[in-house]
Amino acid sequence: MEWGPIRLLVVWLVAAFGLAATQPAFAAEPSARPTCHATGNAAEDYAAIARDPRRWNCTTSDWSVASAKSFLRFDLHPDTETPTAFSTRLTRFASIRVLVIGQDGTMATRRVTEHEVTPVTDDWMMSIDLPRIAGPIATVVVEIEGARHTGMISFAELTGASDRRSLSHELLIAGLCGMLCMPLLFNFAFFRVLRERFLLWHVLATACMLVHTLVTSGLINRFLTLDIVQLSLASAFSVAGGIAAASAFSADLIEPGKLDPIQRRLLRCVGLWMLPVTLIYLFVDGGLRPYVAPFYLGSLLPPMGLFVWVMVVAWRRGSRAVYYQAAAWTPVMVTASIRIGSALGLTDGPIEMLVAQHYALGLEVVITSLGVFDRLLAIRRERDLAVAEIRIIEEQSERDPLTGLLNRRGLENRFETLRAEGYRAMAVLDLDKFKSVNDTYGHITGDAVLCAAAEALEPDLDTRAIRLGGEEFLLLLRGDDVVNRAERRRQAIATRIAARVPGLDRMVTASMGLVEMPDDGGMRAEFGVLYGHCDRLLYEAKDAGRNRTMREKMQSFGGLRPRAA
Ligand code: GH3
Ligand code: MG
Ligand code: MG
Repeated sequence: MEWGPIRLLVVWLVAAFGLAATQPAFAAEPSARPTCHATGNAAEDYAAIARDPRRWNCTTSDWSVASAKSFLRFDLHPDTETPTAFSTRLTRFASIRVLVIGQDGTMATRRVTEHEVTPVTDDWMMSIDLPRIAGPIATVVVEIEGARHTGMISFAELTGASDRRSLSHELLIAGLCGMLCMPLLFNFAFFRVLRERFLLWHVLATACMLVHTLVTSGLINRFLTLDIVQLSLASAFSVAGGIAAASAFSADLIEPGKLDPIQRRLLRCVGLWMLPVTLIYLFVDGGLRPYVAPFYLGSLLPPMGLFVWVMVVAWRRGSRAVYYQAAAWTPVMVTASIRIGSALGLTDGPIEMLVAQHYALGLEVVITSLGVFDRLLAIRRERDLAVAEIRIIEEQSERDPLTGLLNRRGLENRFETLRAEGYRAMAVLDLDKFKSVNDTYGHITGDAVLCAAAEALEPDLDTRAIRLGGEEFLLLLRGDDVVNRAERRRQAIATRIAARVPGLDRMVTASMGLVEMPDDGGMRAEFGVLYGHCDRLLYEAKDAGRNRTMREKMQSFGGLRPRAA
């Protein structure tokens, strides 16, 4: 098991968290937050509501995008550093109109659509340069039409620069993204060895998390020029894809028997839930627009609930994979819950949660990868065990349990190989009058006689011995002097039986039929042909009075020259 890369990942993660703790979350401090905010209908503009104090909410609460328009007013203190940009949470919207009013009454205005806003930030924020005026600024009014998320007004601020990227933060995110790439490589490598589907789901989930981190951290802007719409699509679809793939991954990863089919089926269907939800979030407009963001985040609750249910069931059934899954997903679920809570108005979720989410996703990938390795190890162990058992069974099926010699199946399976290895003589041996041993002394003594006969055959590197069945044996020989080596073994049978099984009233001898090939020719004939010749010669030996050998030398393929021993 390669633990080296895993340790590296963990060390990297610890270093990343350490470094993150020492970094400011954002590059630029806001120079002003909204003094007051108001809402209006599509026909109203700033002039219409400016002088009506009842229309303005001058607290930092009750942010709402339920009306067609939202107004933000920034009253700048004369000592405030002059802001140059308006920044807010990156969200789809219809238009933003910025009005800058100077202390001397000069005014400048600028209107942009979502395609004209630059997302050059190192967090999920977007910026617009303020229109320039000659003197100091007294007030900035921002009129937002069609905002799809309350964060677009609650996170609004004026800053000193529209480019809010911080190099150290970007390096940190780049490192995190690099770390997310590692499981992609590992999993493909592992998939080539163990064709487990969960490895592919893990690749897809990790790829989605990589895209999501690249997009929401703003790092993608270094490589591609994407507008707000494209970024929103990439962010939302990478979340949907990540959740769907991670759920399917869990369905395949968790061990057999630890979940019911319904739970696995539901996990695999999460993608079907996420797709319409994402489309609604991105594209539903009109009167429903204010509700799409809370609806979207609320719709993450059922998959989260399903996940918790599945984890509890698998845990209670003794799953091991579930520990890794629970550890991996807890940080992501905590950060997601805080964001959902903030969107539903239950908690005050700072945008810094997004940074925490990057690390939670990084942690998820590392722990899930550990879980993948652990599961692969378990699967490998199970497979090794099964393969070993099959080998034992195969081995057993090719061996004669009484004498330990190869049996006929074992011989036939190996015959081609043995022929190629130069075996060039075949002898079939049969004990003489063996039935009478059984009849006189019983089968136990008969078995002992068979074992002694097998021993006498003395297989070695150039001699293979096989028990064909009953009291019939076969020898395959290669090298020099094959006839004499076979004959010595035949004769050794009687003496070995006498030594091993004392008390028999006669010598138990053996008859043999042997076919020998020329030295250079090898055994070109089929097993059945050679065996037929040997068997015929054996019975000639029996007919000739037993305890002897009949042999023939094959002159060429098919031609035999008989020779009595
Ligand atoms: P021949 O000299 O003509 O070969 O006579 P034989 O008695 O040896 O031949 P036959 O084929 O009639 O007898 C073979 C006997 O071998 C019959 C059977 O009871 C016995 N036998 C076969 N397998 C086993 C075994 O595994 N154990 C024991 N003890 N006897 C076996
Ligand atoms: Mg016999
Ligand atoms: Mg026999």
